[in-house]
Amino acid sequence: MTDQRLRHIADLLTLKADGQYGLNAVNQRQHALQAAWLAERQGCPDALITASLLHDIGHLVHDLGDNPAEAGVDDLHEERGHTFLSGMFGPEVTEPVRLHVAAKRYLCATEANYFGKLSTDSVLSLSLQGGPMSAEEVAAFDALPQAAAAVQLRRFDEQAKVRALETPPVEYFLPYVARCLVPE
Ligand code: FE
Repeated sequence: MTDQRLRHIADLLTLKADGQYGLNAVNQRQHALQAAWLAERQGCPDALITASLLHDIGHLVHDLGDNPAEAGVDDLHEERGHTFLSGMFGPEVTEPVRLHVAAKRYLCATEANYFGKLSTDSVLSLSLQGGPMSAEEVAAFDALPQAAAAVQLRRFDEQAKVRALETPPVEYFLPYVARCLVPE
């Protein structure tokens, strides 16, 4: 692996992802790997597998602690992640990452039983993030080119919190990431 960008991403997921994922029974690395694995097993394109793996990288590039939402702080990790990834990937990767919090607010507004599927910390952060979308916000979200991919990513995100679930390691997913990198 010679690409420095790939090395940096691998290092973040390998060395900096031991922090607990919110209030859940998995750490950040397990959560990322479970999300990517769900995407792979559903036959998603490289970009969505990569976005699933990296959707919470914004939590790994700040120093606000593992669960700032508990203290009432929105770490804006979707924006931090988008900023971090923007020079490296196209919108097929960066937009679902940027929109995965909005997708939660979207699904809460459009699916009757979705709110009940949220974990405790997702409910906690939902209010910090603005609550369910209004009808106008739903319409604007639907019009975005990556809306469907963001919703799909959100569903993987919600499921990727299973204690002690074995997944392939970080290295296994790096070829998907490498194929999505834009030329330097
Ligand atoms: Fe997540």
